[in-house]
Amino acid sequence: MDRILELQELDTTIDRLEHRRGQLEAGEDLAVARAAMEEAESRLGELRLALDALGIEQRRFENEIDSMDQKAAADQKRLYDGSIANTKELDALQHEITNIKERKSRTEDELLERMERREELEARAAVAQAEATEAHAKMEEVGGESLRELEQVESSLAEKRAAREALAPELDEELLELYDDQRRQKKGVGAAALVDGVCQACHEKLSALELDRLKHTEGIKRCEYCRRIVVFA
Ligand SMILES: [Zn+2]
Repeated sequence: MDRILELQELDTTIDRLEHRRGQLEAGEDLAVARAAMEEAESRLGELRLALDALGIEQRRFENEIDSMDQKAAADQKRLYDGSIANTKELDALQHEITNIKERKSRTEDELLERMERREELEARAAVAQAEATEAHAKMEEVGGESLRELEQVESSLAEKRAAREALAPELDEELLELYDDQRRQKKGVGAAALVDGVCQACHEKLSALELDRLKHTEGIKRCEYCRRIVVFA
């Protein structure tokens, strides 16, 4: 009877290996790594676009400040070179100079704000760049690892299957049939150990009466709850 547990262990391992092989063949790990890389690159791309836009704004403000400086200097010169004698005109010119200074100050604030934002974005872009590089390396690594793991899984599968083929004929035919049937119905688990009266498949504790009855049963024993084959551990 212990051999049915041995078979169950082999089958569980084979099931797990087959599942893993399926994942590897479908390239799931690689797809996850690729998605992470694409996400990192897209974050980096967005930051670069934002930086370009900021650069354009920054240059526009710098040009505006330049031309305001030139205009103010020219006005300043006219104010003192005696070319204007009219008081009203002089007042108007003075007023314009004040206006330019105010506008320049506002533009400088705008420029400063862009420069600060740019610094912040540049720092984030550096982080994003490092993440994208890392994600790319990870993807290449996963690709290589997947191939190696697939080879290992294939060879373990061959080994376990051979062991199963050698073991199965040693088991009683009726027991084997019930086991296969239970495995099909119950998520691959057809047989379990009874440890301190607890079925290790469904984790229910069998009643004292039922345990006593099973102890005196010849042949196949089954869990009273999940109906799987049970073996006293
Ligand atoms: Zn059970």
